[in-house]
Amino acid sequence: MEKSIPEIFGSLVFNDRVMKARLSDEVYSKLKKTIDENVRLDDDVADAVAAEMRDWAIENGATHFTHWFQPLTGVTAEKHDSFITPAEDGGVLMEFSGKELIKGEPDASSFPSGGLRATFEARGYTAWDPTSYAFIKDHTLCIPTAFCSFSGEALDKKTPLLRSMQAINRQAKRVLKLFGKEVKYVKTSVGAEQEYFLIDKEVFDKRRDLVYTGRTLFGAMPPKGQEMDDHYFGVIKPRVSKYMEDLNEELWKLGILAKTEHNEVAPAQHEMAPIYATTNVATDNNQLTMEIMQKVAREHGMVCLLHEKPFKGVNGSGKHNNWSMSTDTGMNLLSPGETPYENAQFLLFLCAVIQAVDDYQDLLRLSVATAGNDHRLGADEAPPAIISVFLGDELTDILTAIKNDTPYEGTEKVQMKLGVHALPRFSRDTTDRNRTSPFAFTGNKFEFRSLGSSNSIACCNIMLNAAVAESLRQYADELEQAEDFETALHELIKRVITQHERILFNGNGYSEEWVKEATEVRGLSNLVTTPDAMPHLLDKKNVDMLMLHKVFTETEIHSRCEIMLENYCKTVRIEALTMVDMVRKNYLPAIERYLHRLAETTSLMRSVSSNVRCNYEVSTMERLSELTDFILDAVKDLEAALDEEKTKEDIFKESEFIRDVMLPRMDVLRKYVDEAEMLTSQRDWPFPSYGQILFSVY
Ligand code: ADP
Ligand code: MG
Repeated sequence: MEKSIPEIFGSLVFNDRVMKARLSDEVYSKLKKTIDENVRLDDDVADAVAAEMRDWAIENGATHFTHWFQPLTGVTAEKHDSFITPAEDGGVLMEFSGKELIKGEPDASSFPSGGLRATFEARGYTAWDPTSYAFIKDHTLCIPTAFCSFSGEALDKKTPLLRSMQAINRQAKRVLKLFGKEVKYVKTSVGAEQEYFLIDKEVFDKRRDLVYTGRTLFGAMPPKGQEMDDHYFGVIKPRVSKYMEDLNEELWKLGILAKTEHNEVAPAQHEMAPIYATTNVATDNNQLTMEIMQKVAREHGMVCLLHEKPFKGVNGSGKHNNWSMSTDTGMNLLSPGETPYENAQFLLFLCAVIQAVDDYQDLLRLSVATAGNDHRLGADEAPPAIISVFLGDELTDILTAIKNDTPYEGTEKVQMKLGVHALPRFSRDTTDRNRTSPFAFTGNKFEFRSLGSSNSIACCNIMLNAAVAESLRQYADELEQAEDFETALHELIKRVITQHERILFNGNGYSEEWVKEATEVRGLSNLVTTPDAMPHLLDKKNVDMLMLHKVFTETEIHSRCEIMLENYCKTVRIEALTMVDMVRKNYLPAIERYLHRLAETTSLMRSVSSNVRCNYEVSTMERLSELTDFILDAVKDLEAALDEEKTKEDIFKESEFIRDVMLPRMDVLRKYVDEAEMLTSQRDWPFPSYGQILFSVY
């Protein structure tokens, strides 16, 4: 590295420092007001910003600009326009106006809209989101934007995210006011820890399932998996550490604070954690991170797998969404305070989250529901599909003491009277992190751990922000009417704990007993698959809440539900088609080749001597030949399912058919092929084995 980190950091970002240095004081302060307080931007200010942005971008090697947005496909989209405009003298001018900065019209007819845009009216428009900095990528100035239809419906993930941030801002400010605190804004912050696999590109290219679907659809377990636990936090291999160095540098240039990196549990699995940022920025950054991770991997002759379950029997990859609320004055609302009054405030915000998670378990669950993540949730590596909250023993005991009006027997014995007593000091839970909880309080933030590694973090933060805004709205409505604030507050907190303690669980979330207790005793929901979860988006209580806080319109909710289910169906369909293709073109012919050799060998050996028993050859042949019959039947069953699926007209029925018929048939087919792999010589096997893939980078 020739340059120092501070020189590199953010060098490709039109960030606050650049704005301050390059914009006039007046333009800067107006823009800043737009960024922080959502004040509308005047056209002349936009022109001034655009002109500086263009000059800065050109100085930094950019030739094009694009509105960069996040359609509902889950990946980002961009359409590049060059700055160049012909000049009268035959030369060119480099132009970029405020109008072009603020609004774009990509041809968007092929992005999913769930029926929101009739095709004759296919255009949507993109609108600049000044709260996320513009940046340069591949010689292109990228302008983060929201993406809407001309009738104003959101076609992306950013618009509802921004709306949800507004909702929580509004309600949290009302609550803070009751504590005598006038703040400019409350915002939510997120740090998204990202897991991923790195494998060798040559090996990857040979696996058609990985190429087409991002995960292996076949593969017997290697003799060595992750049972030794020697990979976790182990020494990073030189090739991987070179990759991480380059990755960090690329991310730093884009102003992404990549901070920690380590190996994960599975072989070839790693993790990257950035320093947290405003939710909106963190979301953009995470999308960029995933893109850069894949790009840098290619440059190193490797492929970065972001699928949540690339390998059966090996831990999948997730994403941890560390979430907190804070004010412009730097106060973290989830940080236990020093004084009794601050403690009461902390407890109220804590309660708001607890209640939100309980009331909207289904929304949180469905916000992470994808075909890929269904393979991971509830396996013994990731939290179950049941949503619960981990607070740690001490904080739970404190809440219980408040609820029961009993003394808290912590380090100091105190009767808890909110607003009068300080919270007893409780140590931050650092040792027992309870990784089995989907939603854990970790000292001054909550960590939502159910996300799949390829999920956009927008979805869960939209739901989380909206749900917490709703708890806060109820609290503000009630407390604003109270005659005696402190008494009302105490009663409110007691009531919330009593009503929602069923969601609190500090035990082992992976255990069988928990599933039983959660569903049978506590009545928590256990939405195991995407088709189970997604339709709940349309439940009246959810639609009402999301509309009340202006996060979604009713039409948007319906279209999103449809798109998510469509994505699910398409994903599994492609997997099934890939399986059929691989079985018919490769696996069956390969097994046949090996059978042929075994048969030839057997008859050859027998022709030499009638005493040879050929036990190995014959028994292998018998089982393999039986397996080819089973495989043929299974592949025919799967083909039949593929045909039948096409006839389903309703997306709900279609997704249920996939869950109930297609996926089980895929499992059957895989089981036979994997058994055949164990019996067939490696020379004849048409694809690299799990061992060859997982240990391909050294
Ligand atoms: P650990 O490594 O023990 O899981 P860290 O403190 O390193 O915990 O945090 C993990 C992630 O949480 C990082 O991305 C970090 O930036 C983020 N994070 C830390 N504090 C906050 C906070 N107040 N709000 C949101 N995210 C946070
Ligand atoms: Mg974590």
